[in-house]
Amino acid sequence: MALHVTANFPGGNVCQPVVDTASDVSGVTFYAHPKAGTEALWFHFLIKDSASNVGKDRKMRITLCGLEEWMEPSFAGDLLPVYRPQGQGWHRCSSGTVNTEPDGRFRVTWWIPHPEPQTEVALCFPYGRSELESLRSKSRNYWAEDVIGMTEEGLPLRRWSSDYGGLDNRKSGLYLIAREHAGETPASWVVDGVLQYLARIKRDPFLVWAIPIADPDAAERGIHGASTYPLDVDRAWGESPARREVRCIQTDIQRWRSHCKPVLLVDFHAAEPHEKDGVYCEIPDPECFPEEHQAAVKWANVIQHELQSAYAADDFKRMAMQSKQTPNTILCDYICGHLHLCALSLRIPYSRIGTKTLSQKNYREIGEAIAKAMINKSGR
Ligand SMILES: [Zn+2]
Repeated sequence: MALHVTANFPGGNVCQPVVDTASDVSGVTFYAHPKAGTEALWFHFLIKDSASNVGKDRKMRITLCGLEEWMEPSFAGDLLPVYRPQGQGWHRCSSGTVNTEPDGRFRVTWWIPHPEPQTEVALCFPYGRSELESLRSKSRNYWAEDVIGMTEEGLPLRRWSSDYGGLDNRKSGLYLIAREHAGETPASWVVDGVLQYLARIKRDPFLVWAIPIADPDAAERGIHGASTYPLDVDRAWGESPARREVRCIQTDIQRWRSHCKPVLLVDFHAAEPHEKDGVYCEIPDPECFPEEHQAAVKWANVIQHELQSAYAADDFKRMAMQSKQTPNTILCDYICGHLHLCALSLRIPYSRIGTKTLSQKNYREIGEAIAKAMINKSGR
């Protein structure tokens, strides 16, 4: 048996993989690669089995090290990575086994089918260019895709729009952003659900502009993207943006503002990796942004109602803490504080809600519910 691990493809990430084929059950032990970030979480790699006929085991181990910075060992069983044997769809792993060292470090082991000629393994369902292409063909060209600028590394930053609007346009405007932190792929799957639903009903009361992947450089290089050096995209907002991507998106938000009646910006993120209470919403601090807070509460209420208990956390409306915790300006604070528009952030779990494990279909259903809530609130 010859196992080979590679992450040499767009979005790939693995660090120090160690293959074990000597034990009764084969396995790969690995870390998520920090790639110059202070936080490492995203992983996505391919295990190739070059032996022609193996079969002493029916499954193999994948073991992740280095989760201590994210969670206590008691929560680690709630993180459920995904895998895709060649030619099949993605599946979720079942709960992992946590092994704690005497010094407190721990590793989590999950099981995937084996032997397979090759199997992809990832923190959560990847979402990139091919998923966007698939969304576009399903949406039958309802969405226009435009390049609003080039990233720091020269990749196109793409914005989707239902309509360009115009300078005298009074249509209510929504601006959606996902993947300021590239490893948070649940955010893109939910926005995919929002955009698919709006394309399907074709009576969208809003002028919607959306950035499905706000940090394409990190997505392409497999960087998790939260707390990257010197600033991640979500912490680089302000009058003088500290990231190229923010500069491009700020300019686009100004265009959007002048082409509609802007009502809401939604920033989609993943939740903490062990979150299993459900989707939740971070709303602006009432002391810093009283009017925007009030408006955000109303949006949050309709979204919570539409998500219902199947998807919404009981503790759905939470206060965004960044305003006071960090000297850097985050996106929602910039929108509320500088543009005086309502903004909120939705946080989507990586793995499960209660005992229900989340599939791509579930993420799209969450997106659909969010789109329905927005339409209901607009009274159409
Ligand atoms: Zn995030």
